[in-house]
This record gives sequence, C-alpha cells and structure tokens, in this order.
Amino acid sequence: MKKIILMLFAVLLFSECTKVPITGRSRFNLVTDSQVLPASFAQYQGFLKENKLSNNRKMTDQIKDVGKNVAAAVDRFMRANNMVAEANSYKWEFNLVEDKTVNAWCLPGGKVVFYTGIMPICNTVDGVAAVMGHEVAHAFAKHGQERMTSTYGQQIGGVLVSLGNSKKDPKTQAIWNAAYGITSQVGFLAFSRTHETEADKLGLVFMLMAGYNGDEAAEVWVRMSKRSGGSKTPEFLSTHPSNQTRINTLKDYLPTAKIHAEKFNKQASALIKK
Ligand SMILES: [Zn+2]
Repeated sequence: MKKIILMLFAVLLFSECTKVPITGRSRFNLVTDSQVLPASFAQYQGFLKENKLSNNRKMTDQIKDVGKNVAAAVDRFMRANNMVAEANSYKWEFNLVEDKTVNAWCLPGGKVVFYTGIMPICNTVDGVAAVMGHEVAHAFAKHGQERMTSTYGQQIGGVLVSLGNSKKDPKTQAIWNAAYGITSQVGFLAFSRTHETEADKLGLVFMLMAGYNGDEAAEVWVRMSKRSGGSKTPEFLSTHPSNQTRINTLKDYLPTAKIHAEKFNKQASALIKK
C-alpha cells in the first residue's frame, strides 16, 4: 500500500512539474488556468470597485499604452511557442489607482494595476515598460500559482472557488493578496528571491520585444534604492535580492535578453508571414 501511495505521489509530482518558458526553471504548480482565471477576474473587479482610479489622464494613458505594447510582445511569444490556448485565455487590462504605495502587480490572465506611488520611480516611459515587463513576467511564469500551491497543496481547488465568489473569507483573501503582491505594507517586493530574479530577466525580454530601452530597467532600481535611502534594505525585504544585486543582474542579463527578444520577434513575424 505504502509503495502504491509513493508511486502515485511520484506520478503526481512528475505531471504537475513543468518548466518556465525562456528560463527553463522547473516549478511545481497544482493550480490550473481554469481554476485560477475566474478567481483572478473576480478579484480584479472587486479591487477596482474598492479602490479609486487615478484622475491623471496622461499617466493613465501611459500605463494603458505601455501595457498594450508589452502584452502584445507576450502574446507574440506565446503564439510562436505552442501556448496559443494560454494566449487566448488572457483578458489584458491596465489601470492606474490613486494610492501612494510604491506598488504594481499583474494577476493571472493579464489583469494589471499600477499605483500612483510607483510613478516617480518609473519616471520615464521606458521605466514604466520595465516595471510593466517585470509584473507581467510574474503572471506569465505563474509565480502566484506556485505560492498558492505551496500554501494550500491539494485543497487549492476549493480555495479558488471561494476566491471567485463575492463572499470572502479574510484569511483566504490575505493569502491571495500575499501570493500576488496586493498589499499596502510590503508593497512592490512581495515575491521570493528566485521569483524576483526570474521576473527581472523575463521582464527585460518582454520590454525589449516591445521596443523599449532595456537600460532603464536597472535605472528603475537605482531610483528605488535612492528612495529607500541608499544601501540599507528594509528588514521585510531581506529575503529578496538587494537593489544592487538586481541592478547587476539586469545589467549582466541585458545582452542575453536582447538576443532572446530579437529571436522571439523574428519567430513571431515568420509565423505571421506563413
Ligand atoms: Zn516582483
């Protein structure tokens, strides 16, 4: 009996273990798209109802514009790399909320929110593209689903059904918010070191595919470290890469990201010509 259970467990592990496209990292995720997307879309609607959209037309247009371009790059990548069903399941949306928190996030299925508090850190249109690429990369790589899997394991199905309902259990809600970085306390850096570095690299590829200046990704983190007062990282961020580590990663990875971006755009345009 024990043997059978072990075997079943091994099969389960094997079947749920997939690789993140582009980086090739193995991940363990029990959350399916058909489970998470209804929850994600309901959560997004709920968030927009409870939060104030920015009145700043210019900044809002910039978020929507950059968002569309980065989303189009991700869409091109998916369609050229056997992810057509996934590309079709995305319902991209970009909003700017009036909130001083330095934060931005993207839920599964392409539901993005920027907070006005992060706009001075973004500073330029390329800076917006860098943050957009990074956040969209978390969703693309399904980082939140990995976190939900490690919290709930086999019970994940029921939890997601309740997250898709209007009646909310505060504890489940808090775990969803933590999994997707929706918080006014921790803010911008809610993921693990592995996830952050992966999102930095993928984000760079996507912003370059969309035609933005990749040098700005490191500059965003230069501005972030100036804001937090130089070298000292707040304690709650101590498990995350330091600002300097991120700046180095983004600079070191830039040439590789450029090669990837060019290759993926060529793949996609070859597909269109066919
Ligand atoms: Zn992140």
